Parts: sequence; C-alpha cells; structure tokens
Amino acid sequence: MATPLTLPGICWPLHASTGHLAVTTSHITGHFRAGRGQDAIVLCDLLPAGKFRNGAARHWCRTHQCYWGTQADLADQQAGQPMRCRQHASPMGYVLYPDLFDPMQFHAATLRLGTDGLLQLRARADDGGALFSRDLPALAIDCRALPGLFPPDVVQLNVTPPAAQAFAAALQADAPLGCSDCARCGHPHLDLGSFALAPHRRHSCGHCGHDASHSPMAIVSTPLWRLRDLPQRITQCF
Ligand SMILES: [Zn+2]
Ligand SMILES: [Zn+2]
Ligand SMILES: [Zn+2]
Repeated sequence: MATPLTLPGICWPLHASTGHLAVTTSHITGHFRAGRGQDAIVLCDLLPAGKFRNGAARHWCRTHQCYWGTQADLADQQAGQPMRCRQHASPMGYVLYPDLFDPMQFHAATLRLGTDGLLQLRARADDGGALFSRDLPALAIDCRALPGLFPPDVVQLNVTPPAAQAFAAALQADAPLGCSDCARCGHPHLDLGSFALAPHRRHSCGHCGHDASHSPMAIVSTPLWRLRDLPQRITQCF
C-alpha cells in the first residue's frame, strides 16, 4: 500500500458507540481517495489503557475506538504485523481540510442539523457583523481560545456526522443530556448510536480508553452539550 499521508482532517468510525471529538491534533494519518468520503483507511493511534478483566494488558485505539490486546491481536503482532487494532482496515468517514470555526470571532452563532444531513452553521462576525453561512458535512470548532470548556491540550472539537445525529436523536427523544468528563484524562465523553438513546452512568472514554467514569446521574453525554456554555457566542446548538 502507498505511504500514508498526514493531513489536516477529521475522521470517524462508521459504527461505534463512543467517539473522540475533542482532539489534541488537527491532523489525521491514513489513505484518502478524495477530499471527503466514507472509505478512508486511517492508522491506529494506540495507547496503554489498563488491563482487561482477566489481567492482560490492554491498549486503546483512539482512531477506531476499540481495545487492543486480545489473543487474536497478540497473534497478529507475533506474526510480524505492526501493532494494530482489529478495526485497522475498516473504512472510516472523513473530511480533509475541514472548515475551522472560531466561536470567539463570531456572535449569534447557530448550529443545526439539516434534513439533508448537513450541518448548518450561521454566525455574525464580531468584526463588521458580516453573515457567515456554511452547510457542511462536518466541521471543526477551534478550541484554542475557548475559556476552559475542555482540557488545555484540546485544539479543536470535531463535529462529526455520527455525533451530530446522536445529539439530534437524543434531543428529539427527550433523553437527559449532559457532558461527562473522563475521571482519568479529563476529556469529554461522547455517546453514539444506541448509547445516545439509553441514559447511563458509567462511561467509557474515547480519548484514553478509561472505562470507569461515572456521571452523577444517568445521562447521554456529548461534548456538543458544552457549546451551550457560550451563550454570548453560540445562541443555538441543535
Ligand atoms: Zn485502530
Ligand atoms: Zn456514555
Ligand atoms: Zn480519558
């Protein structure tokens, strides 16, 4: 296979119950056929993440949102393959060179999910008041100037289609929403798919793989909820 490229981008697993939106780098590394699509092969991003229940050491793949360290994973590595999770060849959704929106440069921003699946972002520039209007498959929200919403190592919040759809579905179902932070790394937790419709207390972290953070009450957690903490900037988020 060709050498993987490292480019500014957002990617997301097509089927996952957790996600990783609050990223510490704006770049992704993998194989991309176009500027956007659902067929990227993205390299694993593995980090130590405690132990399995049977005591075996495990890792967490931030890219594919799954653990590494099963017998099958170890056999794959012993067969001479680089360390890679079982989802390493699964196609991923992606957007390269995504729009980067800095809420601190705008006011009266609204972010909605259109019936066509596109994110509708509207805002007024602080400088001159011009209307900023975009319909996008995904976007990045610049976190570098945001006051304390996320841990300081977070550079941007990726608003991916699964995260937007899960948030919209949870709102429509009237599920109790919130944003639970990981007890180990402090990163905000994202529930996707059926987890976004079934409030729960124990959350598994998409950033570090820690699987025993508890919210005070049963909630559906999404980092997008926290954008509501900027009412002077963002007046409507879904
Ligand atoms: Zn992986
Ligand atoms: Zn959860
Ligand atoms: Zn964590």
